[in-house]
Amino acid sequence: MSKRYVVSACLAGEPCRYDGGCSPCAAVVELVRSGEALPVCPEVLGGLPTPRVPSERRGERVVAKDGTDVTRAFVRGAEEALRLAREQGCTVAVLKARSPSCGSGEIYDGTFTGVRVPGEGVFARLAREAGLRVESEETFGGER
Ligand code: SF4
Repeated sequence: MSKRYVVSACLAGEPCRYDGGCSPCAAVVELVRSGEALPVCPEVLGGLPTPRVPSERRGERVVAKDGTDVTRAFVRGAEEALRLAREQGCTVAVLKARSPSCGSGEIYDGTFTGVRVPGEGVFARLAREAGLRVESEETFGGER
């Protein structure tokens, strides 16, 4: 069965966040439960472990808090997540706000001080450029 939505796996309740937690959103959990949404975690798909050192975007790069450049893993994971979404025919993405992979509209500024700047995560941008409508759990109204 094809799925209309691709969603951040952490919003669906999967414990894939950098700290081993999740960020369940009732509307997203319901989309997955009803079979309408494909949950993906681009960072896990990119080969990163859970838990992992938190990362933020710095321009076109993604850097972990310990200084490691993790850009390659983020890009690989985003490409794989998009491939899976296309395979399912997804046209809408509901992605976790402010994540360096999934954020749309604004993200953290790369200083690990909680400062937000306009921008988008690596997967969110790839999905938008591929023609998907990208929403966050904060903008998604749960419409079908
Ligand atoms: Fe959630 Fe996206 Fe971060 Fe994975 S990469 S934990 S799906 S916000």
